Amino acid sequence: MALKNDTELRELIRKTALLNAAQHGGKAQAGALIGKVIGERQELKTKAKELSALINDVVNEVNSLSAEEQKRIIEKKWPEALKKEKAEEEKRLPPLPNADKYAQVVTRFSPNPDCVLHLGSARAIILSNEYARMYKGKFILRFEDTDPKGKRPVLEFYGKIREDLAWIGCKPDEEYIQSDRMPIYYEYAERLLKDGAAYVCTCIPDEFREASLAKKSCNCRSLPPTEQVVRWKRMLDGGYKEGEAVVRVKTDLEHPNPAVRDWPALRIIDPEKYPHPRLGSKYRVWPLYNFSTGLDDHLLGITHIIRGKEHLTNQVRQDYMYQHLGWKYPEAIHYGRLQITGAFLSKSKIVQGVRDGIYTGWDDPRLATFLALRRRGITPEAIRKMIIDVGPKPQDVTLSWENLYAYNRKILDPTSSRYFFVSEPATLKVKHVPKTFHAKLLLHPEKPDEGTREYAVTPQGDDKSVAFWIAKKDVDAAEAGVTVRLMELFNVKIESTKTDSAEASFASESYEDVRKTKARLIHWIPKGEEFPCQVVMPDATVTEGLAESACKKLKPDTVIQFERFGFVRVDEVAAKLTAYYAHK
Ligand SMILES: [Zn+2]
Repeated sequence: MALKNDTELRELIRKTALLNAAQHGGKAQAGALIGKVIGERQELKTKAKELSALINDVVNEVNSLSAEEQKRIIEKKWPEALKKEKAEEEKRLPPLPNADKYAQVVTRFSPNPDCVLHLGSARAIILSNEYARMYKGKFILRFEDTDPKGKRPVLEFYGKIREDLAWIGCKPDEEYIQSDRMPIYYEYAERLLKDGAAYVCTCIPDEFREASLAKKSCNCRSLPPTEQVVRWKRMLDGGYKEGEAVVRVKTDLEHPNPAVRDWPALRIIDPEKYPHPRLGSKYRVWPLYNFSTGLDDHLLGITHIIRGKEHLTNQVRQDYMYQHLGWKYPEAIHYGRLQITGAFLSKSKIVQGVRDGIYTGWDDPRLATFLALRRRGITPEAIRKMIIDVGPKPQDVTLSWENLYAYNRKILDPTSSRYFFVSEPATLKVKHVPKTFHAKLLLHPEKPDEGTREYAVTPQGDDKSVAFWIAKKDVDAAEAGVTVRLMELFNVKIESTKTDSAEASFASESYEDVRKTKARLIHWIPKGEEFPCQVVMPDATVTEGLAESACKKLKPDTVIQFERFGFVRVDEVAAKLTAYYAHK
């Protein structure tokens, strides 16, 4: 039977094409279908040509439908197939616990705006965001800026963090700023004090510590709620100075971890000495981390907290407060430490280093900030993919820059145009060039349609010579008598070399002539076609050299590959090209 009369096969192709179209904006890709169809009908392997004609036929028919029509047909005829495709596409992370118990999954990322974002935050951000997407939930950004003394927030970082999140592809659905929520924290503090679930402790720290270590209550704990409220008002109106009083949440005094016992919830910070960057001296009593975070996770409806396992003890502390308030703690997923060897991730040192001028800015290439990665041409997709592949597992994971580069290379390689860049330029004089050569260099070796850079190479003078710029390392490696190939141009035989120059004579044109001898392939720029170029390296040193003149047309922010050198991001095109090095 001719394939085109096989109605069952035609229906299978139609289904496959419709599903494929749904994934590609309404246009099925014929090339992707043949493998899938043969996967279902092995016997068709030998009839690929006939099958391919039939597929083209069906694809044309499917692609003539609107996306809505396509969807309607799938939903009517193969609703289960659509679900399956979706599941495979989206469930890249292990499922969240108890996701079906909540009307909507809500996750959060809660940075302190005391630095820009860096790789160390990537896991919390990307996993929280990805899970919200996966369950069509909500991703909340919450600025935790209630420590104007120890972890002082800085105005410029609120905006920078928003920009960083947009860059990494994790724009929040909602945003909250904790310093705007102070009345809420005060309300709950008072409620806990009135309920006898918290107390104002005026002990000097050593006294409290001693009592706590002995699993004993301090003198403040047993005072009646009325007295607690009086003390609380005194905290608020300045009757106590910084360090003289703190609100503590009652826990089990026998808890095995002394750091959990009656943990501090709110404290006084001298508003004149430590004004808040947004609110000035408006408040003198500030919530501590576990109090504001614990309250907000419930009040903002967070269903799943995805964070590092160093927060496990915080959950134990907050559990007591949740019990006092009759609340249920959100689902918490604690992942292991993710270390990136060689990535510099100390926020305080980053901030200090930038302020002191040790670093050129938040995007100094030595830093692992998102801004620095962005400037170097590391794509957000690469970071996202790497983090999702690691997932939320509780084991510690150590990655290297090389791991990240491998992800990035996979993304950049198919899309980046190729150019020649000669570092430490040296000259190569090639004699006896028989004619003018018109070199057509592909912008991408696998994509001829992307275009070419073209250079005419014309012999000059009695010796019919052509002068090129080549990298000094290629001069160093050259030896008299050896044939090397100028990439995509012709082969030359080296005659002599000096420190930063070499002489050669034309050998032949075809690559075939030197393929067997494994001749060194070197890149080149005809003299007169050079464009000064500097590449800022990851260690902030600058590699000076010459790029080919076609680079004058590049737009800033484009990532290209300098052949035999590495991927770079074009930073500025002016009298010279400035690029930032990504990786090999
Ligand atoms: Zn006390």
